[in-house]
Amino acid sequence: MHQAKFFAESFATKSRKYRQLAICRLVTFGPMAAPDHASRTILHELLADRGTLVIDGATGTELFARGLEAGDAPERMNLERQDAVFGLHQAYVDAGSDIILTNTFGGCAYRLMLHGLQDQVVEINREAARLARIIVDAADKRIVVAGSIGPTGELLVPLGTLQPDDAASAFADQAQGLTEGGADVLWIETMSSLEEAEAAVLGAQSRSSLPICVTLSFDTAGRTMMGVTGTEAGKRLADLGVAAIGANCGNNLADTEAAVAEIKAAAPHVLIISKANAGVPQWHGTELVYSGTPDVMAAHAHRMREAGISIIGGCCGNTPDHIRAIRGVIDGTIEVPEVDLELPTARVEPGNARGGRRRRRG
Ligand SMILES: [Zn+2]
Repeated sequence: MHQAKFFAESFATKSRKYRQLAICRLVTFGPMAAPDHASRTILHELLADRGTLVIDGATGTELFARGLEAGDAPERMNLERQDAVFGLHQAYVDAGSDIILTNTFGGCAYRLMLHGLQDQVVEINREAARLARIIVDAADKRIVVAGSIGPTGELLVPLGTLQPDDAASAFADQAQGLTEGGADVLWIETMSSLEEAEAAVLGAQSRSSLPICVTLSFDTAGRTMMGVTGTEAGKRLADLGVAAIGANCGNNLADTEAAVAEIKAAAPHVLIISKANAGVPQWHGTELVYSGTPDVMAAHAHRMREAGISIIGGCCGNTPDHIRAIRGVIDGTIEVPEVDLELPTARVEPGNARGGRRRRRG
């Protein structure tokens, strides 16, 4: 923990340079550089109509069910297995999503390099956004295509060797493809390092005027793996002019809920996102499964809406059934399920089988 905090602090110096760059861009280009004027984004428009927006669930499991081979790049399917990508998106549209993510989580050059696809970054991202666009344009309501941008998988200097400028450049290519393919917003997600998140925002802003949303994974005792708190994330990302900030993935619902509350308090003028994993990950033999049923996620979605969270969905372990349950609670067509909220595993008393659970309040 202390080590993570140290890393976070040593990154802070580097990130000041980036904030400076952001300010310079505002001065040079005026409002175009900050395409985040609250009332102008598509997210705000839809929120004015719908109150809360539902975003989709896990991508990987849905693609495995449609033929993705272990070890291959899901992003390759945007070129070679478009039927599978259509199926993924259609399933979440049918479940009631207001926002769907493109199949581009690993779509930056550093991730695609692992599969020999690094020369097709723009093409893959453009095609992925185009596929999602086709599905939402055929839907009977307006649905947002959010261009997913995940981490590079590399560590930035001084902890690793990746220079922030190089990271920003890789994210810029990805943002360009997503924008050309028709994404409505750019969706930077599952970040652990604020410096990498900032590089992604600045890279995206250098090549696209789309609104930007950013989520981090608070999976290490309520902080990100790099020691970032919700408060730190809220403050620093709001300064970059993003439209929405939040938490995704994570290790349990309680930590994610605490993190989004911190973000909301630190960044009161941006939209807040919760896209949590379906409860606590557990190994069953060689298979990683999640404890959270659709009822657990529906009750979570209810708590999040009561807490003023605008955009609610699910990450790992969430299927279209989970999203359908979230939709039902948000719309009031199903009762809020009475379920237990699992506490973080770190807080479970050893030897006390019931120690990790308590009744949901309210
Ligand atoms: Zn996840």
